[in-house]
Amino acid sequence: MAKLVWRVKLVAERHPGVTTETELACIERDEDVGLAELGLRLDEAKRLTAALQAQVVPAQMAALGECPRACEACGRKLAAKGHYRARFRSLFGDVPVRVRRWFVCPCRGGAGEAKSVTALDFGGDAVAPELAYVTARYAALAPFGKVAALLSELLPLGGAQHASTVRNRTLRVGAEVVQAHAAEAPDQPAARATGPVVVGLDGGYVRDRHRGEGRHFEVVAGKVIRADGAQHRFAFVRDGQVPASEAFRRALAVAGVGANTPATALCDGDAGLWRLQREVLPNATPVLDWWHAAVRFEHALQAARGLGAGTADARLADAAVRGLERAKWRLWHGRWPGCRRRLAALRRWAGRESVREVAGIGRLWQRVAGLLGYLQRNEAALVPYAARRRRGEPIATSFVESAVDEIIAWRMAKAQQMRWSKPTVQPFLDVRTAVLNDTLKHAFRRRHPGFRPANDDRRPTAAAA
Ligand SMILES: [Zn+2]
Repeated sequence: MAKLVWRVKLVAERHPGVTTETELACIERDEDVGLAELGLRLDEAKRLTAALQAQVVPAQMAALGECPRACEACGRKLAAKGHYRARFRSLFGDVPVRVRRWFVCPCRGGAGEAKSVTALDFGGDAVAPELAYVTARYAALAPFGKVAALLSELLPLGGAQHASTVRNRTLRVGAEVVQAHAAEAPDQPAARATGPVVVGLDGGYVRDRHRGEGRHFEVVAGKVIRADGAQHRFAFVRDGQVPASEAFRRALAVAGVGANTPATALCDGDAGLWRLQREVLPNATPVLDWWHAAVRFEHALQAARGLGAGTADARLADAAVRGLERAKWRLWHGRWPGCRRRLAALRRWAGRESVREVAGIGRLWQRVAGLLGYLQRNEAALVPYAARRRRGEPIATSFVESAVDEIIAWRMAKAQQMRWSKPTVQPFLDVRTAVLNDTLKHAFRRRHPGFRPANDDRRPTAAAA
């Protein structure tokens, strides 16, 4: 039976009119094919792109090395200092490269300066930005081992891909691409919030890989919602290497929020979270999450309803329920002093000698005392909830809790069973929030000019045809 043969040749034109030809691949098929043999197979595509990359990269490096370098300060031509070898790791395979070096100009020969300059700065591990980007982007969403398996199935990556490679690469992206360039964001006027913002804060826990005491550590996560509806998630380790207030300030700065941006801050009443708000957003209007207050009222109401169950004291339940409902109504309408009086009276009553024998009275006392204490601790954040709701202003942190779930619960605590340490979790949180905020590509563009140009939608192949 006859065979069909395709030879794929690369015609390089490194100098105008001077071409060289290299065969990249040879693809063969029988004339009589089944569906599985129709068109390119994945392994052929991988070999083809790897062969192309192996030609293109060294040629680019050679051309780069041929450009004479002059001193930036005095313009004197730099003297060549040979090459060093490196391994360029890309989406299309590892390519060994020779990187041209030059001596540093004598005019800059000060002590402590680098002795040579290179044609291209490969960084520590010579990973192509696109490989780092694709790895981090998917590692933020799926387990490291699965990302490694998928990438090596689809791409001619060099060497075996392990979960640990994916993890390390992702953490490096967090530290060197996302964190390092996050600080630049507030300088961009476009990123600055123009109207009032809502900032929601919540805490969540991540498993600590160091077992024993304190098996979990706390991550503060939240969201900024701007007047134009844009949402920005953030997350940082509490008591990490950076003080929480500094981490919070930076996270807000990335969202374009500064100390003087008009803001509403919502949280569940955690004293540490309020402290953060006071330190970083001292002018914000604090709002205690209505839902958390309502749940505590509900617990107290349950205790009240069960009062004296099955005895002659059951009528006491009605009075206690009425008292709680009135207190709740007052809180909802922003009448905190009235609410406090009602709750204090109920607590006093539940502690009296005359009702000591009533079934369930101890539980009611506890619930009411707990509720009252909770509201008193958050007194400064009690607002006219009804009026806020009418005006369409947020009164609950449900949007924040969804952010916490999104950022840490699913990926880092529940399904994954992964263990983290404080120093490694922050870069991962940074990558994850950047992916969820859809800013990862932007961060790469700041780090690597020319990375996936935003306005370059033209297709060069179509233009050439
Ligand atoms: Zn010089």
